[in-house]
Amino acid sequence: MVYIASVYGEWVIKDNLSWHFEVDYRKGGRMFSLRDGCTHDELIQMALEDYSLTKIGHRLEISYPLPEVFTQQTCNDSPPMFVTNDRQVESLIELSRNHGVRLCVSSKGKDEDNVDGPLDEDLDENLDDELKEEFDEELDEDWSAEREEVSEESGCDEDDVREKAYEGDDDTHADYSQYGKIKDEDVVIDVPFDDPRLLGRGVGHRIGIDNWEDNIYEHQSFDTKAQLISELRLTAVMTRFSFRIAASTRKVFVAKCKVAGCKWRLRAAVKNEPSTFWVTKYVKSHTCSVSDRVRNHKRCTTKYIGKLFLDRTGLIEGIVPQHIRDSMRRMFGMKLDYTASYRALKHAQDLVWGTAEEGYANLPSYLQRIKDANPGTVTDLVCDSQDRFKYCFLSLAGSISGFQYLRRVIVVDGTHLTGKYGGALLVAAGQDANFQIFPLAFAVVDAEDSESWEWFFNKLRDCFRQLPPMAIVSDRAAAIARALESLCPGHQEEYATITSKVI
Ligand SMILES: [Zn+2]
Repeated sequence: MVYIASVYGEWVIKDNLSWHFEVDYRKGGRMFSLRDGCTHDELIQMALEDYSLTKIGHRLEISYPLPEVFTQQTCNDSPPMFVTNDRQVESLIELSRNHGVRLCVSSKGKDEDNVDGPLDEDLDENLDDELKEEFDEELDEDWSAEREEVSEESGCDEDDVREKAYEGDDDTHADYSQYGKIKDEDVVIDVPFDDPRLLGRGVGHRIGIDNWEDNIYEHQSFDTKAQLISELRLTAVMTRFSFRIAASTRKVFVAKCKVAGCKWRLRAAVKNEPSTFWVTKYVKSHTCSVSDRVRNHKRCTTKYIGKLFLDRTGLIEGIVPQHIRDSMRRMFGMKLDYTASYRALKHAQDLVWGTAEEGYANLPSYLQRIKDANPGTVTDLVCDSQDRFKYCFLSLAGSISGFQYLRRVIVVDGTHLTGKYGGALLVAAGQDANFQIFPLAFAVVDAEDSESWEWFFNKLRDCFRQLPPMAIVSDRAAAIARALESLCPGHQEEYATITSKVI
């Protein structure tokens, strides 16, 4: 028995006539255990199963590069060794006992044309009509009209129609620009780029246009359509063009160069696995003029930049617009101003964390889930007469049950929230016998005024009413004093208002 690691991808010949295996990293690697006497059929079956490929539509090729010890004696243009029969498997097993061998699995998809049916006929301009029947259910009948609108307005526009429709709705919501913030809408901007000749020669690990290679190839597979689009975005930015999405359904994806009449296009289709998109056609040469291409390319939307940043860098807490600005400059030579960076960041954040509106909408079910997971937890959600958010209170069961062991002091404070809809966060904390802070309750309120403090103190009293007397420590804010004043006269035994400056 021998163990041989394998990767999935495709062989390509480099300029210097050497063979190179382009690994499809998304597929990951697999470890094959080959027993002595393993047959070629068994090996193929193993690869089909382990890479989740069904037999129909795939002609697997299994190969391996000749170990270095052999290539030193021959020219370096030796092609890969293909494992085509039982004898070759036996040689492979013997070879792997003494040399490190990496198996290379490729799929040639011999039945591809049949699988795709009429869709895989050549790239003609009527393709879109043929595809209409297969569009996602969510896309309505006006899709083609809206699609044109999208493609004209939004520059690098792979944003789908639903997103467009959503933006329309969003505009009718509260106008928060009055608070002096930048509206987080998608905006078409002209992006000035560094001179491409400077790219790749700068300091740091800039992806250089000089050493950039188009990683997309026919028969390549992407686990999801999003991954395919992500790769396309990178390719478009690095090779300075814009693409538009001519069709996007659950099964088919077609992108074309933005310049009318240009032959660049990519088609991918789902074959056997439900979400894996295979590149079935890829015409990588442009027939448009460089000036047309670049003019289109410079018109870019902030949402596009946000997605590009997300694809390539990811999002962590604490990223500010300057980070977007710096990284886009360093990676792609894009020169963004602060506003564009802010909008791109906002969009990236919305994609990852959801929007503020979604957050408010999810609040009732979120609170219910907290209560389900922590029996004894107290929550409250108050809306105003127009059903808009007003107050939200949360005290976890652990805080309530742990309170009896604390010192007889509650420290309260509030802070303004800086999100889209503002508001204030009120907190109450205690102190345990080891002088450690023990969180008791939180509330998000519309504003830090005496009305909201009074509501908060009432909620607090409901949760922590045992074991008086109690001291309240605050920063002596007028609103807190007024709230306690109106709350405490009849309850002196419960709340002794010893206020002191704690900060
Ligand atoms: Zn083109």
